[in-house]
Amino acid sequence: MSSSIKPEQLIPYRPVYPDKVPDNLCPVATECTTMLPGDWRAERPLVNREKCVKCATCWLYCPVQCIVEKTAWFDINLATCKGCGICAHECPHGAITMIEERGK
Ligand code: SF4
Ligand code: SF4
Repeated sequence: MSSSIKPEQLIPYRPVYPDKVPDNLCPVATECTTMLPGDWRAERPLVNREKCVKCATCWLYCPVQCIVEKTAWFDINLATCKGCGICAHECPHGAITMIEERGK
């Protein structure tokens, strides 16, 4: 069954507080609150730079694309990381550990 909504009927996404909210936050949640992931994450990933071989597996699997490439390793953008732990689970080299979130 095809959608009856026409493209011209779609309302463009505009964050309520565009100066405070990262572009890739969920637009629905952004309309309701300006909370950032660090305010509610239970755990955060920590990359062991000695173990990381830059295979990019974590980058491939992260559902919110918050893995960032550094010169010698891949790191986490904690501004948007949801703390789901998928990167730690999928890293074939055991380079990512989930640690308790202790705030920003
Ligand atoms: S999956 Fe592991 S080894 Fe590969 S880039 Fe990510 S942290 Fe590094
Ligand atoms: S914990 Fe989840 S959201 Fe955060 S970097 Fe890993 S895969 Fe991405």
